[in-house]
Amino acid sequence: MDDKVEKSDQEWRRELTPEQYRVLREKGTERAFSGALWDDHQPGHFLCAGCGVELFRAEDKFESGSGWPSFTRPADGRAVASERDSSHGMERVEVHCRRCGGHLGHVFQDGPAPTGERYCINSAALKKVR
Ligand code: FE
Repeated sequence: MDDKVEKSDQEWRRELTPEQYRVLREKGTERAFSGALWDDHQPGHFLCAGCGVELFRAEDKFESGSGWPSFTRPADGRAVASERDSSHGMERVEVHCRRCGGHLGHVFQDGPAPTGERYCINSAALKKVR
């Protein structure tokens, strides 16, 4: 996980779709219930749409009713990093890919067992593989 991916803004713009770029590089949020993966409950792995590292697993995904893919934990504690986010008049904890720095979403402390955490992640930040 120390193989950091760093690219120029121009490279990210070229490689990502406009929606992926808006979420990953500009910390955007997709509209609830609009993404490709909020209602996906098939087995598999969720990779970072920016750099391809595995971020989440289907067995940790749950239906939160929020309209965003929701997980109780990352696939690997080292894959995801967090920081305080005071934007939009809210106190939240932002989560991003440790490898490429791409914004993923936020983590809240109202999730189900076993962790009590709810990783609320944008579909556009993820790439699902079986
Ligand atoms: Fe990444």
